[in-house]
Amino acid sequence: AKRVHTFRQGAAERPADALEALGSKGANLALLAALDLPVPPGFTVASAASREAALTGELPPGLRVEIGAAVAWLEGVTGRIFDGTERPLLLAVRTSARTPIPGLAETVLDVGLNDRTVETLAAELGDTGFAFRSYRRFIESFAGLVFGIDAADFEDMADAEKRASRWSGAEPGGPAEWRALIARYHAFIEATAGTVLPQTPIEQLMRVVEASFASWRAPIARSFRALHAIPENTGLSVTVHAMIFNERDQNSGTGRARSRDFATGRARLTGEFALGGRAAADMRFGEIGPVHDLAAFLDGRASIVFPAEIETLAAHVARLEAHVGDAVEVDFMVGDSELFLLQSRIAKRSPAEAVRIATGLVKDGILDEDEAILRVDPASLDQLLHPAIVHRDSLEVIGRGRPASPGAASGEIVFTPHDAQRRVAEGRRVILVRNETHPEDIHGMHVAEGVLTIRGGTTSHAAVVARGIGKPCVTGAGALRLDPAAGLLKAGNLVLRVGDTITIDGSSGEVIRGGAELEHPSLAGELALLMDYADRARRMGVRTNADTPAEARAARSFGAEGIGLCRTEHMFFLGDRVPVMRRMILAPDEEGRRAALAELLPFQRSDFVELFEIMAGLPVTIRLLDPPLHEFLPKGEAEIADVAAKFGIEPRVLTERIAKLEEFNPMLGHRGCRLAISHPEIVEVQARAIFEAAIEAGERSGATVVPEIMVPLVGLKAELDYVKALVDEVAELVMAERGRSIDYRVGTMIELPRAIVRADAIAEGADFFSFGTNDLTQTVFGISRDDAANFLPTYERKGIIARDPFQSVDVEGVGELIALGVEKARRTRPEIVLGVCGEQGGDPASIAFFEQTGLDYVSCSPFRVPVARIAAAQATI
Ligand code: PEP
Ligand code: MG
Repeated sequence: AKRVHTFRQGAAERPADALEALGSKGANLALLAALDLPVPPGFTVASAASREAALTGELPPGLRVEIGAAVAWLEGVTGRIFDGTERPLLLAVRTSARTPIPGLAETVLDVGLNDRTVETLAAELGDTGFAFRSYRRFIESFAGLVFGIDAADFEDMADAEKRASRWSGAEPGGPAEWRALIARYHAFIEATAGTVLPQTPIEQLMRVVEASFASWRAPIARSFRALHAIPENTGLSVTVHAMIFNERDQNSGTGRARSRDFATGRARLTGEFALGGRAAADMRFGEIGPVHDLAAFLDGRASIVFPAEIETLAAHVARLEAHVGDAVEVDFMVGDSELFLLQSRIAKRSPAEAVRIATGLVKDGILDEDEAILRVDPASLDQLLHPAIVHRDSLEVIGRGRPASPGAASGEIVFTPHDAQRRVAEGRRVILVRNETHPEDIHGMHVAEGVLTIRGGTTSHAAVVARGIGKPCVTGAGALRLDPAAGLLKAGNLVLRVGDTITIDGSSGEVIRGGAELEHPSLAGELALLMDYADRARRMGVRTNADTPAEARAARSFGAEGIGLCRTEHMFFLGDRVPVMRRMILAPDEEGRRAALAELLPFQRSDFVELFEIMAGLPVTIRLLDPPLHEFLPKGEAEIADVAAKFGIEPRVLTERIAKLEEFNPMLGHRGCRLAISHPEIVEVQARAIFEAAIEAGERSGATVVPEIMVPLVGLKAELDYVKALVDEVAELVMAERGRSIDYRVGTMIELPRAIVRADAIAEGADFFSFGTNDLTQTVFGISRDDAANFLPTYERKGIIARDPFQSVDVEGVGELIALGVEKARRTRPEIVLGVCGEQGGDPASIAFFEQTGLDYVSCSPFRVPVARIAAAQATI
């Protein structure tokens, strides 16, 4: 097979897998050449040759001849001659692989310079300094690559020579001094390497190619390949092209251009340019002088003259962009007023820039809406919708945990919800720090800027609640130690006290000492436009998990099409409801419970009215009480004594009643529909609150409110039938009382394996199913969602699982079961509405799976709604 492939503007020899064969640089230059863009002419020695060389340790037979032929071709194209007595040909040699690998040979410039051609070049250009400066740089990089001589040694020598010859400036002043310096270099190489710098240009080139091949085996390159699973048998390519004198004079320079303005996303030449000549010569070799804004040349605002045609550059870059279909970045050079493109790539961008560029490409007719949607990583939008840290560099990270709820927040540390409320009432910002959170912490979480827990994973209570209310949260920061009694938080030797400021970054999991500057987002402009594209493309609905009016409003502003899960228990943790709730739970009999429930009814009703009004006719799914009741009870002696006093009973009596409610494994205990079956009065009150609220909201707004009542943790058809009968009874009663009919639906969460196996039967009594992937993952894996953080990170690190299955659906196990449930449900009830409301409802990879499975909607925390809209759209494209 051909091992040497030539390229010049308008023509390139491009093998089938150009990237593999020619490396990133060679393939890119061949592409630019084929697009008839100006590139310096040259050739690439394909990776196959380096693979052969790796086997034998020397240049493969015949390669010299092929390279020689390519050089001869290049002499013809350039009208210059290698080792020529006039117009000598000089070459740049660049190494690259399919993907960048550190440790590979650095670029060697000016191959072809020797003691003769340097003089010829000096005469040709009338510029001794430039010619010798180039030669000096060539010798240094050649000796570095081929002989392994340290650059610092050459610096020492230059210093010695400077003292001996007494130059006044930064480099030799005239030809004699330059020649003396070069002679010193030659002598040093001979003494150190035991051989001389080859004076024959073709020999120089062969040695550089050989050494470039050898760099494949450099230790850094090897370990990088091992780390990134890059196969050893791929190899590198060496690209050789004619030198451009981009550093020579005011007619030369170097720049980097972009096809778009990243601040607006619109087509416009932007980027930077540095003039050659003095500016470049004053700097160290290869470095670039003062930088000018490229756009300024187009607008005529520049303080210098661009040495080529700026409009031509703009046209080239635009052409490349249209070909690639994305914003590009181009490295270019100007030599003697002639423009050359050297490299191009898809431009790197921040998430905000990605959104602007994607919509800009649509406005400019380069992409259609569907293509633009695919250009944005939905997960990266999370960063745009939450506060982010602006300057990270100077920050002191004192701990790390799980990135449990995205966004950054700063505040004074507090260790109790009570202290959180007290300080916030004084107008201060706080971060609530707990070992883990429980439902009674919710009022503290609501007022805090963010939450940090020492234990717990990404579906722990703290994580779920924080995501729901859009507060940054870091969980499982296990290296930190909390001493709430002493009011101390310890990070190694560092001791922080209540009131000290920290910053948490729930997107990265970092805990940072002190405050940090934050940036705040909104869903507007180009992001809103991208959302419109997504809404036109997607099939699945996107609802939100919202328990409070504030969350519901936030979710609406992010485009939620209803509430897929309202966890009613969260409403009982607000303000003065906790004591009433406690009275209900601790009541010795049904009568006592009913009395307390009667007090809770108006609270619930007004909560629901508000949610219905905010959702203005969109579906609202309200779940009946789910958590084990003991979660609402006081913990610890002091709190128990306090509550007992308020109830007017002995602490001992209270302690006994609490003990009765205690369970070994509450997650698998008296919770979900089991509560409804033991205490039907709870269902009666909740259902009544829902129906009365639906009527009231309907009357107020004129919209038809169709509440959806959801029964949690059903495993048996009979469980759902029992609860549904209760709900239906209440519905009839309320309708009779109010003299109005209401349309409503009753459905269930599917979060137990048995419910999936019996989905066909359960569907007979359910208008809808909502897959609760948090509990379903927990029960299918048999992994406690609150304890998973103790070992799942190890699983991920050891490659036992690829991703936390609570975050992203385990397609082969849990996913297979969901698909089975969907199929069974539709068999008995084709019109059943199917959704998902676990954390996975906001995870792009899971959303792709749910689309495939044919779910009707996903429901996720408010701040993930835009992410889900994009992900759902991508899943259909
Ligand atoms: C679930 O289990 O997936 C769910 C949404 O319910 P919760 O997280 O409230 O248990
Ligand atoms: Mg659940």
